[in-house]
Amino acid sequence: MKVLVAGGAGFIGSHLCEELIRQGDEIICVDSLLTGSKDNLKNLLGEQKFCFLQHDVIQPLKGDLKIDQIYHLASPASPVDYREHSIETLLVNSIGTYHLLELAKKNTAKFLLASTSECYGDPLEHPQKETYWGNVNPIGPRSCYDESKRFAESMTVEYVRKFDLDARIIRIFNTFGPRMRQNDGRVVPNFLKQAKNGEPLTVYGDGSQTRSFCFVSDLVAGIVKAVNTQETKGEVFNLGNPEEHTILEFAKLIKDLTGSDSRIIFEPLPEDDPKQRKPDITKARKILGWEPKVSLQEALKKTIRALPKIEVVNS
Ligand code: NAD
Ligand code: UDP
Repeated sequence: MKVLVAGGAGFIGSHLCEELIRQGDEIICVDSLLTGSKDNLKNLLGEQKFCFLQHDVIQPLKGDLKIDQIYHLASPASPVDYREHSIETLLVNSIGTYHLLELAKKNTAKFLLASTSECYGDPLEHPQKETYWGNVNPIGPRSCYDESKRFAESMTVEYVRKFDLDARIIRIFNTFGPRMRQNDGRVVPNFLKQAKNGEPLTVYGDGSQTRSFCFVSDLVAGIVKAVNTQETKGEVFNLGNPEEHTILEFAKLIKDLTGSDSRIIFEPLPEDDPKQRKPDITKARKILGWEPKVSLQEALKKTIRALPKIEVVNS
């Protein structure tokens, strides 16, 4: 199988490329390196079946590429990154998605859009099912991400309706693991870096907001199943771990696992920060036969072990 992974040099994309290589696929990894890095590909760059192309998918890919499957993960994902690169985020999820859908159409290739739980905004329905339409501020600081992903979803389903493209959408809930950039601003790298450096752990707001954290290997297994399972054309799947924690509980767990004596301090809650988030994964369980397997503690230990100069103390 010849597979194109857009955003393959990023955190999730690089793990996905490794899994696809393990399965024997031939990969074209396309990435502008806006928030990703070639370091993430160091296990892959020597592989015969792996090819890296530095390219911004806002521009169409030139040449006569023959492709069976396209995984579209190209987009900044951390709130700090998409605020800094707001216009790039809007463009990659709109024009970038359009070019990749066109490429899929030309090749009659299967297509997967990596969308996000952010499509639900600050959700009024809890946990979130795929049928929930969301509560998104269209002009708030997160809208460059939320709204452009919603646009990407809309364009993807339109290619299914109009051109019968074999495309599906996954809505990824907070996922973490080795290779997240230490300074990408998301809560896991922030707390781990702070715990490691003996700095205070910065909890935003009072820490009562909730998130549900999934380990990257579980997510990658779900992504691959979403493309390779029958009856997923035109469907949307939540992929994430339904175990929900407050951010304050999460800070305490990281302090505990790293043995850090860092204090916990409270900083202002960013505007429009969702108060709660937890996926309903009934549909993924039923149709994909998928559910996360790695517990939060185990996932954090694996992530901590991958960091330089930090040890798990409480096992
Ligand atoms: P990441 O920032 O590590 O990876 C994104 C990759 O896309 C980077 O390598 C970046 O250089 C590349 N990219 C960005 N714009 C591009 C462009 N115009 N052309 C080519 N490449 C471009 O983030 P991630 O956490 O690995 O997220 C991957 C995907 O999963 C994103 O689409 C994101 O929206 C989605 N997602 C992630 C999470 C999560 O918790 N990690 C949650 C929801 C959705
Ligand atoms: N957060 C925090 N301290 C940090 C970074 C994030 O308390 O140093 C909070 C943030 O306000 C949000 C949650 O942790 O409520 C998850 O944030 P992240 O940026 O990882 O992802 P989000 O789910 O908001 O996209």
